[in-house]
Formats: sequence, structure tokens, C-alpha cells
Amino acid sequence: MSGILGIYNANDAAKLMFYGLHTLQHRGQEGSGMITSDSQTMYGYKNHGMVQRSFNEATLLQLKGTMAIGHVYHPTKERRVLQNIQPFLFHHSLGDFAVCHHGDIVNAQAIRHYLEKRGSIFQSDSDSELLAHLINTHRQKKTLDSIKEALNYIEGSFAFLYMTKDELYIMRDRFGLATLSIGSLGDGYVVSSETCAFESIGAKYLRDVSPGEIIVLSKNGLQSITHASHTHQAINAMEFIYYSRPDSNIEGINVHQVRKKTGIILAQEAPSPADIVVGVPDSSISAAYGYAEASGLPYEMGLIKNRYVGQAFATSNQRQSNVKLKLSPVRSVIAGKRIALIDDSIIRGTTAKNIVKIMRDAGAKEIHVRIASPEIISPQLYGLDTYHNDDLISLRLNKEKLCQEIAADSLEFLSVDGLKRAVGECGLYVGCFNREYPTHIYESEVA
Ligand code: 5GP
Ligand code: MG
Repeated sequence: MSGILGIYNANDAAKLMFYGLHTLQHRGQEGSGMITSDSQTMYGYKNHGMVQRSFNEATLLQLKGTMAIGHVYHPTKERRVLQNIQPFLFHHSLGDFAVCHHGDIVNAQAIRHYLEKRGSIFQSDSDSELLAHLINTHRQKKTLDSIKEALNYIEGSFAFLYMTKDELYIMRDRFGLATLSIGSLGDGYVVSSETCAFESIGAKYLRDVSPGEIIVLSKNGLQSITHASHTHQAINAMEFIYYSRPDSNIEGINVHQVRKKTGIILAQEAPSPADIVVGVPDSSISAAYGYAEASGLPYEMGLIKNRYVGQAFATSNQRQSNVKLKLSPVRSVIAGKRIALIDDSIIRGTTAKNIVKIMRDAGAKEIHVRIASPEIISPQLYGLDTYHNDDLISLRLNKEKLCQEIAADSLEFLSVDGLKRAVGECGLYVGCFNREYPTHIYESEVA
């Protein structure tokens, strides 16, 4: 996972960036960085770990200027090294520039080979560096033309920020797979992977950046251009299901409300003979509320999350023991009860299996697992955590077998149609549930 944030024309941009990145922390905890500009010089700092630990008062003071781009980092296929933490700063005789990115470029390998043949050498495994080199090797008189040319090569999901010493370029992929919104802050602007960051900075939401749009922020104000002619909206459904914070809105649609609706529809599609409803914290709480409301069952706090276990653990192979570290049962709530247990998704099945065991050990009489998304039967190509065929338990086991595997009394999923109805008007990418992908699929990505 990762998140990006840009600030244009605001006093003390570094400090605002710090608060904003902190709000995007759920999108990546492995590292964070920012680069600022005072319209003459660029300043940068990045570090491993969470935002609050990466930056301190002294570092922030050195990051001068009224412009900034920043990033919270969650490695997917890259190595966990400092070189991979964004943003990247590049020095050029025509002017320094900085880049950061969220998303997944599906033809990254091909672009990398192409650029290496033309003389580029890379410091990182990151797709952001590719964009910088593409822009540089296709330099035109105007930066905007270089960017347009570079974006022709790129397929996949992206939200890119490109900063020169006094201009900020904002780009979103042609399908809007990666979320990106813009807000105003005094005379300046803020752009963010999620709208929840606006609140913490005091910015006012203006709109979502459109699929295929480039926004230029400069002394001439805000300019909007398109980089792609064939666009349609296919926002990654996983943003609604899992990635985004419940207080964020995507295309004006509140994430908590969508999750709650998935729970309501799930209760209609798959009712359960239960006494209470329990949600797996944090991402499925909203859906669990909806399930409880629609089924007329009490919502109960049957599981408590230990807030001090970093996600860092959960991304390694030790998921199994982590679930125990992360979640504790509330015995007096669970014991002797028939429970409708709501989670947002099943990928490898580890979480569900462990939670069912934890709840049985705490005395649950029956456990009816209800998942507020459809079965994941195909890789999540444009996601934050990209998982592959080998990871997906729903590819190996049908629903009945999977129910046995996690030792639940029953197991049901939300339908794809139910998911779409919960989101409403907005165009969705649901490829991991139905294998329909908006871009070309490359072997290297699926294997
Ligand atoms: P599993 O244990 O089945 O492999 O994963 C399911 C759990 O992972 C769910 O509880 C869900 O909240 C969470 N989850 C869903 N999508 C993602 C993702 O992209 N990355 C991470 N780290 N967790 C996810
Ligand atoms: Mg979860």
C-alpha cells in the first residue's frame, strides 16, 4: 500500500505535509518521505518507519518552502530499503525535479528494459523512478509536453506527483484506478490519495482528479489537461472494501457508508442464525454495523484490536501468530453465543481461520462467517498489496471446502452485484472478483 500527498503554495508546507502524511499512515507504515521547495532550492528527507518516527521538529525545520510532495511507503514487490522510499529527487542542469507515485505500473518491466537500453540506470525498484526517466528521455521544450509523452508509455494504475522548483504536476491514470483528490487551502492547493488528509490539514475538498487528467499548479493558477483520450472510470473496489479510511470519500461517496451498505446487502443475501454480530477490527466494523442493523441482531464488541502491533508484522510470513498478537476475544461477550462474524475479505484465509479458532477457544457456540466482499479469484493487479494466484485460497477451495478449512459453521460472501449496488453510481474495477481487467495483462505481473 502507499499514499501520496502534495501541497502547493502554503506556508510551512513541511509541517502540513507531516500532519497530512500522518493521516495517510494506514496506507503504508514501512517508511515515509517528503521533498519541499522554496521556489529556489529543494529539500528532502526520508526514513524507515512510521511518519511520527521518521520526522522530528529539527528535520521539519530544515524542509523549507511553500511546496511539498510526500509519500507513505508500503513495499509490495520491492526490497525494503531506503532507496525505495519516495519521493525521489533528481538533479538536472535544466532544473531539479522530484517525483512520487502510488499505484502499480503493469508494464514496468518492459519500460525498465527499454530505458536501460537507452542508457538509464536505476537506484530503486520503484515505478516512480521509471516515470522520472521517461520524462527525462522524452524531454520537450515544455515540461507538460514531456509528461504527456512519458505517460503514453505507462499502463496500469497511478497517481503521480511531479514537482519542479515552482510547479506541481498531478497525474491520474486513465481509469482512475488509483484514487486522487484535490482540495484548496487558502490561496493554495492540496492533493491527496485520500480525502481524510484534507481534514487534518484544514483544506477544503474541491473534487476528485479525473481519470486521464493532468493538473498543473503554477503561478498561472490551476490548469487541467487530459493525457488519455479513451478513459472510463474504474476505481479500485478494494479502496472501498479495505484500503481507504472510513472517513474518506471517493467521488463524493463516503467509504464508511459504502462498507455499511455492503453489510446491509450481505445480511439480505446471506442471513445467519446468530445471536450477535461481531466485526473483525478495524476494516470490517462498518460492514458489521450494517449487517447487524439489517438483520436486527445486536452488534457486539467481541474482538479487541491491539493498536500497538504494527502492520509491518502482518506483511511478513508470520501472519498466523500475528493475528493472535493483534486481536483478542472478549470472552464474556462471545461465550455460549451463536456469532455472525463479519470480515471485509479473504485472501489467504489465514485471518479467518485464526479468528474462528480464537472465538471457539473463547467459548463461541456457532460461528457463521460472512465476508463483505466477493470471493477473490484473481490477482489484485493494480493494488497496493498485489497478491497472486498462489496466494488466493478461493482459487484452490470452493466455498464449502473453504468453510471446512477455516472451521466455521457456515461461510458466505457478498455478490459482485451486491458490491456494485453498495457503491452506487461510481464505476468500479472488480477484476479480482470477476477477472475483468481494464488494461492489458502481462505475464510477469500475474506469475
Ligand atoms: P488473509 O488472512 O485471508 O490472507 O487476509 C484477509 C485479511 O487481510 C482481512 O482481514 C483483510 O482486512 C485484510 N486485507 C485485505 N486486503 C488486504 C491487503 O491488500 N493488504 C493487507 N495487508 N491486508 C489486507
Ligand atoms: Mg482485516
